Amino acid sequence: MKLFRFGKEGQEKPGVILSSGRSVDVSGFGSDYTEKFFTEDGISKLKKWLEQHADSCPEVKWGERFGSCIARPSKIICVGLNYAKHAAESGAEIPKEPILFFKSTTALCGPNDNLIIPRNSHKTDWEVELAVVIGKKATYVEFENAMDFVAGYCTHNDYSEREFQLERGGQWVKGKSADSFAPLGPWLVTKDEIADPHKLRLWLDVNGQHMQDSTTADFIFNIPFLISYISKFMTLLPGDVISTGTPSGVGLGLKPPKYLVPGDIIRLGIDGLGEQQQVAIKAP
Ligand code: ZN
Repeated sequence: MKLFRFGKEGQEKPGVILSSGRSVDVSGFGSDYTEKFFTEDGISKLKKWLEQHADSCPEVKWGERFGSCIARPSKIICVGLNYAKHAAESGAEIPKEPILFFKSTTALCGPNDNLIIPRNSHKTDWEVELAVVIGKKATYVEFENAMDFVAGYCTHNDYSEREFQLERGGQWVKGKSADSFAPLGPWLVTKDEIADPHKLRLWLDVNGQHMQDSTTADFIFNIPFLISYISKFMTLLPGDVISTGTPSGVGLGLKPPKYLVPGDIIRLGIDGLGEQQQVAIKAP
């Protein structure tokens, strides 16, 4: 199934793309895509509910705004430097253990919402990433069972302000958390629809120029490893997002570096998970 959320910011409703290709409003099911939804096995229940109710669900019209494909989760955990070539372009060593950092959940937004370049920013950068959404509570998970804890996958642009991230002291979180820095979606694609999440092409263009193009086959740490690893430091709750790191081709890695300015158009996508487009604007 492909789950999406649509409507005005803060008032999103849940939707599903049916196997027929029809996009329907599933508000009648009675739950948004929240922690509670995933905790209560909402994906299976929604699938069952649709067998009876799909025909009577209202159609979602083309042109509706997409919201983030899940409601605000308890956390967004990002993995740093999970592709060897990106580590090299960042001037960093290949990590021996995954580098983890948090991204504020208020950064979450729809896949085609404007990118708001923060006040005093001169180094806003792009990062296409495969995001994994957790399906059930995970604490001290073994590698062997780790994939049982996945609900599905989505496209994420892990926007990063490099000065805030790297030159202002302390943790990366400062450069990762501005409003609109986490467009997620358009769809949460349930894991049964993705044969191998370690064989997905991901790409990103800026103003039509191809900047990133890689495959998740190049991960340093794969998805079950990351879930198992993270769950040894914290409990992952249903709906939590793990963003698996970006491949090479970010602005920071160019010579000279290139950063986003108002008017820039950023497009990105991942095989089977859909595409996003953001237009960069100045913060009010
Ligand atoms: Zn990232």
